[in-house]
Amino acid sequence: MKILMADAFDKSLPGRLAQFGEVFEDMGRIGEAEVLLVRSKTKVTPEMLEKAPNLKLVVRGGVGLDNVDKAACKAKGVDVMNTPEASSVAVAELAMALMLAVPNEVVLAHTSTKEGKFLKKEIKRTELFQKTLGLLGIGRIGTEVAKRAAAFGMTVIGCDPYVQSHPVARMVSLDELFAKSDYISIHTPLTDETKGMLNKDAFAKMKDGVILVNTGRGKVINEADMAEALRGGKVRAYATDVWYSDPPDPSCPLLTAPGVLMAPHIGASSKENLLRIGDCIVAILEKRK
Ligand code: NAD
Repeated sequence: MKILMADAFDKSLPGRLAQFGEVFEDMGRIGEAEVLLVRSKTKVTPEMLEKAPNLKLVVRGGVGLDNVDKAACKAKGVDVMNTPEASSVAVAELAMALMLAVPNEVVLAHTSTKEGKFLKKEIKRTELFQKTLGLLGIGRIGTEVAKRAAAFGMTVIGCDPYVQSHPVARMVSLDELFAKSDYISIHTPLTDETKGMLNKDAFAKMKDGVILVNTGRGKVINEADMAEALRGGKVRAYATDVWYSDPPDPSCPLLTAPGVLMAPHIGASSKENLLRIGDCIVAILEKRK
């Protein structure tokens, strides 16, 4: 088996995959590859597939398959697999970290103290306790966030057209989620239905001063509308790990809008998760031996 590792995985992975054949990282050898391993950086396009006549399997280490043209793979007889279970805890912990960082003013507290300003009186914190968290999408990651938020004493509600009931969250309509949530955390995939669904019409239905956390996909929000909502104060803060593109284009309006807490798409990048993704890839290749 010839395995092309196109993106960054745990450094132990090439050694662990050696039992299945040759492992290489040179994209120039795509023509030889029978298995292609990607995370989110490499885009599997029809043009790439044209250069890969021997390819039989694409494995996306992670959840979202929006960087893989599944229809083009199918047309070429290339199987596509992902490792959906691995990343839930890693992403949920980042969502919690972002959600905690905003009301605790962690960034301001750190930078001001470092600059020699001691803003003990000036920094006004608020708590997650007894606030309402609305989860947009409540699958694997949303569920891990729900459990953690409940442990913080939050009231957890969820909206997901494909989930009728949930052990932690009370399921509500989209309008009720917008109307009741102090925090909204996004955990949907990027689909035709979710693209741009958080736009100015949606913001208008939310509480004044709502805080949004996005570890789902950048394009679920409309960036221009979000920047405007932040400037006008309708949205108090937008804490995001995900963007229209990785990295965001310099013209991205969120880079200069107030109240944006930024992370560079690191939701799945915990050390433990990269090891779990490796375990899943070994199991997938084991089955195809
Ligand atoms: P999942 O499939 O278990 O859950 C997604 C949920 O979203 C499902 O329950 C689905 O029914 C729901 N959904 C679909 N359309 C919806 C809509 N219109 N409104 C509300 N809910 C809707 O997936 P998951 O493992 O929880 O991952 C969710 C997403 O998180 C992925 O698709 C990916 O985009 C993102 N993700 C981001 C990172 C990161 O690095 N930040 C890492 C992994 C996954």
